[in-house]
Amino acid sequence: LATPMFADLAGDAQVSFEFFPPKTEKMEETLWESVQTLAPLGPRFVSVTYGAGGTTRERTHATVARIAKETAIPAAAHLTCVEATRAEIDAVANDYWDAGVRHIVALRGDPPTTGAKYATHPGGYENAADLVAGLRKLHPFEISVAAYPECHPDSPDSGHDLDNLKRKMDAGATRAITQFFHEADTFFRFRDAAAAAGIDAEIVPGIMPVMNFASVKRMSAMCNTAVPAWMGHLFEGLDDHPAARQLVAATIAAELSRRLYAGGVRNFHFYTLNRAELSYAICHLLGIRAKPALQEKAA
Ligand code: FAD
Repeated sequence: LATPMFADLAGDAQVSFEFFPPKTEKMEETLWESVQTLAPLGPRFVSVTYGAGGTTRERTHATVARIAKETAIPAAAHLTCVEATRAEIDAVANDYWDAGVRHIVALRGDPPTTGAKYATHPGGYENAADLVAGLRKLHPFEISVAAYPECHPDSPDSGHDLDNLKRKMDAGATRAITQFFHEADTFFRFRDAAAAAGIDAEIVPGIMPVMNFASVKRMSAMCNTAVPAWMGHLFEGLDDHPAARQLVAATIAAELSRRLYAGGVRNFHFYTLNRAELSYAICHLLGIRAKPALQEKAA
C-alpha cells in the first residue's frame, strides 16, 4: 500500500494479443480497427484462434496472412488436432510456413460435440504433445502451447496435467500460455508447481478482460476456472450500465495484471475478443506506450 498505484511499473512489460477470425464483414472491420489500435504498442506477437473442429481453417489462415502482410507484428496461427489426419494438419502447417508464418499455437482442441469425450481422429495427432512433435519435424516453428493453472477439465489431477505440459515442452514447445484465471495467486501457485516439475520454459498468463460477467461465468464453468465471489459482487447491478461496467472491468483486469507484475511477471497475453479498448488501457497502466514508428505503420 506504500507504493502509489501503478507507480512501480518500469515499462518493461511485454504483451501479446489474441484474436479470433471474423465471420462477417462488420466483424472483420472491428478486428482490423483493433489490430491497428493495438499494433503501435509493439506486441511480441499476435495470435489468431482456430475454430472448433477446424471450422475456421480458411478464415484463420486469411487473418494470420493479412496480419503478417500488413503489419510489422509477428503473427501466430492456432492449430488443433480435431477432425483431421496428420497429413491434413501438416498441409495446413506447410501453408503457414510458405506464407511466412513462423509461430504456431499448437493445441489438441475440443470434441466437436460439446460435452462429448475427446477421441483422436483416425490417422490424426493424438494430442497437443504429439502435434508439437509433428510440427517440429516439419519446420523450425516457434511453438506455444496451452497450460491450465486450475487443471484441464479432462485431467484427473494437477500432477497429471503438469506431466502433460512437461511432455509438450519436451516435444519442442517454446512457451506455454495459460487459460484465463481470476486470481493472481492461482497463477503464482501454478508457476511454482511447474518449476518444481522441472518446467523451465516461459509461462505467460492469459488475461481475459471480463466485460460480460454472465458469459465469463459460463465460460469459466466450462474451463474449470473458479469465479471468486468478490467478482460477482463487483459486477452486481451493472447489467444496464455498460459504460460503468467497462470501467469496472478495466479496473479488475488492471489490478490482476498489476499483481502479476509485482510477482515478477513481465510477459502478458491478452484475450482481446477482437476489441482493443480494454487491452489497450491495461497495457497503458502496465507502462506500455505506443511507439511512434509503429503508429505510422498502423495508420
Ligand atoms: P492437451 O495438452 O493435449 O491435453 C488436454 C488434456 O488431456 C490434459 O488434461 C491432458 O492431461 C489430457 N491428455 C492429453 N494427452 C493424454 C494422454 N495421452 N493420456 C491421458 N490424458 C491425456 N481451442 C480451439 O479449438 N482453438 C483454439 O484456437 C484454441 N486456443 C487456445 C489457446 C489457449 C492459450 C488455451 C489455453 C486454450 C485454447 N484452446 C483452443 C482450447 C483447447 O483446445 C482446449 O482446452 C482443449 O480441451 C485442450 O487442448 P490442449 O492443447 O491443452 O490439449
